[in-house]
Amino acid sequence: MVTTLGPKMAAGREGVAGSSGSGPGPSQRRWRRSSWARGVLLLLGGLWATSTSVPVSLHSSPPCRHRVPSEAEVINKVHLKTNHVVKRDVDEHLRIKTVYDKSIDELLPEKRYLVKNKLFPQAISYLEKTFQVRRPAGTILLSRQRATNRYLQKENDPHRYCTGEFAEHTKCGPVIVPEEHLQRCRVCRGGKWSCVAVGVQDQEGVRDADFVLYVGALATERCSHENIISYAAYCQQEAKMDRPIAGYANLCPNMISTQPQEFIGMLSTVKHEIIHALGFSAGLFAFYHDKDGNPLTSRFADGLPPFNYRYLLCLFLFFFGRMLRLSSENHGSLGLYQWSDKVVRKVERLWNVRDNKIVPHTVYLLVTPRVVDEARKHFNCPILEGMELENQGGMGTELNHWEKRLLENEAMTGSHTQNRVFSRITLALMEDTGWYKANYSMAEKLDWGRGMGCDFVRKSCKFWIDQQKQKRQMLSPFCDTLRSNPLQLTCRQDQRAVAVCNLQKFSKPLPQEYQYFDELSGIPTEDLPYYGGSVEIADYCPFSQEFSWHLSGEYQRSSDCRILENQPDLFKNYGAEKYGPHSVCLIQKSAFVMEKCERKLSYPDWGSGCYQVSCSPQGLTVWVQNTSYLCSRAGQVLRVSIQMNGWIHDGNLLCPSCWDFCELCPPERDPPAANLTRALPLDLCSRSSSLVATLWLLLGNLFPLLAGFLLCAWH
Ligand SMILES: [Zn+2]
Repeated sequence: MVTTLGPKMAAGREGVAGSSGSGPGPSQRRWRRSSWARGVLLLLGGLWATSTSVPVSLHSSPPCRHRVPSEAEVINKVHLKTNHVVKRDVDEHLRIKTVYDKSIDELLPEKRYLVKNKLFPQAISYLEKTFQVRRPAGTILLSRQRATNRYLQKENDPHRYCTGEFAEHTKCGPVIVPEEHLQRCRVCRGGKWSCVAVGVQDQEGVRDADFVLYVGALATERCSHENIISYAAYCQQEAKMDRPIAGYANLCPNMISTQPQEFIGMLSTVKHEIIHALGFSAGLFAFYHDKDGNPLTSRFADGLPPFNYRYLLCLFLFFFGRMLRLSSENHGSLGLYQWSDKVVRKVERLWNVRDNKIVPHTVYLLVTPRVVDEARKHFNCPILEGMELENQGGMGTELNHWEKRLLENEAMTGSHTQNRVFSRITLALMEDTGWYKANYSMAEKLDWGRGMGCDFVRKSCKFWIDQQKQKRQMLSPFCDTLRSNPLQLTCRQDQRAVAVCNLQKFSKPLPQEYQYFDELSGIPTEDLPYYGGSVEIADYCPFSQEFSWHLSGEYQRSSDCRILENQPDLFKNYGAEKYGPHSVCLIQKSAFVMEKCERKLSYPDWGSGCYQVSCSPQGLTVWVQNTSYLCSRAGQVLRVSIQMNGWIHDGNLLCPSCWDFCELCPPERDPPAANLTRALPLDLCSRSSSLVATLWLLLGNLFPLLAGFLLCAWH
């Protein structure tokens, strides 16, 4: 799901006639005129303006539908030989053995290289360094799949016997497991007492591995129906602790991108999917163990937790194109292996919505000890009962991910919007499975929601937004600015990218529990139920999101400040921005104006930009071109006036807090009286470089102008 703004909402570039003091008011009024009037303005503006319609897109991957494997797809209680188990040092890490299916070799050479040499090695390396298995396996020898999925167990024999024929192939998801990884066939024909091992002896198995990952690139039904890069799940669990010992990851061949800018996103998707296979799955909650190795959910005589078959009905409907949207009330009897309330607990929240109403809102919390501890610390809420799981997005998304409203850019939320990080909370969950230990030095910093308190984590975002407004404090990480033309730019929550608020109008009124606005500037009261954030699984809470520019449907650049390639073209760089590894997003207090001779150019979409910063004992310094501006306190206005390529760029930037970027900061103080008499060239017009710039600008203006005019005439 990629939400694209229409051409009317595109980030255009037009010159705005006026002095450097022209504020948002007049500029916005100008932009709300009709496109016809705009055309006239363009003509009148003539040489002043450039106009290229560049649509911007907010990133939002389709929600991850982690399909919990059905009872028939998973083999539990796989007996592993213990004779090869060696006591390992505590600092040894998880060993994942990757086995590539032949479908990987059939990929185009550049895709095959990407998958085998970059994507999987890097994802596996991260997971191996991050986790350690509490009970390492010696050799993994998998069970054979039976045609009927009915098994028998003999007394004093750990192996499982099949009552009917075994399947021709044993599959792990869509991938066929190689023969050499399989135990020999054990079949009971004619009752429990005529069970024998038949066929070839046990094969060699997979030595020195804790988990076997079968990687395929099969164009499956799921690939054609769902707009996904990859999906993964476990397929066999060992007998002693129920830990998954084998799983698969299937990449949809058409979705593998070799574009460099897509690599980071694909890598985090692959890590996310493998984490589902290793433990973060609603299908495994009932198998979690405590730190002493005891199951958190009680077992039947066969050693398994209770199973609720209702889930199979859901799967049936899912595959026949009618995905059952489970209402919150149904979660208690999903039809999965049913977990106890030591793992997941249902809690009712009091939820503030519009018209001063409070409605009940049911949430499911993961309540295992380390998760509770990490969540309390993260949000600074000592009474928090557990970490909320996703309640939207349909089967596969809900319950299998963290709630997006609360942990937006955490990598184990249900969709990829921006800047994914694997936080301590996900590492804590993996520890709480009872199967792994986590190396917390591998956790990435999560800014979203950090230290925001109990009201943030336990109430609706309406409650939070209203409370912040009353206290006259920032609404961050939420926002209430309509995504309209011109775009009001802001910064991503971690101040590393230019962003825009994703508040938008929907075609239908939102469900009552997600209607949050009592008023919105310029919107009639009766339309308010149609407004919410564009990301459904974030409970429709609006938040600032990074975006990318597209030209004729082609990706141009993203708004991430740290990527050098995002640097705007020389003559489109109104705000004198600088993208690169040391750049951060700063708020612009007014629109930047480019000025030369009698010409003044401005950019209608403004509000923030990317600038380099550095730290020193004096504090935080902002760099615009080669000019430095020292921030003495947060909120200080920096009057920027620099010369770049024969143009003077004037604007105002707001100082962030020094502590946002520096390890050490001096106490805040009032800035010294500004030295406003910066030396500027006396006569820019006579410089030859400016003549070149003017000619370029002429060319740049004429083409879209003519094109626009011809289009107008055509219609
Ligand atoms: Zn997922």
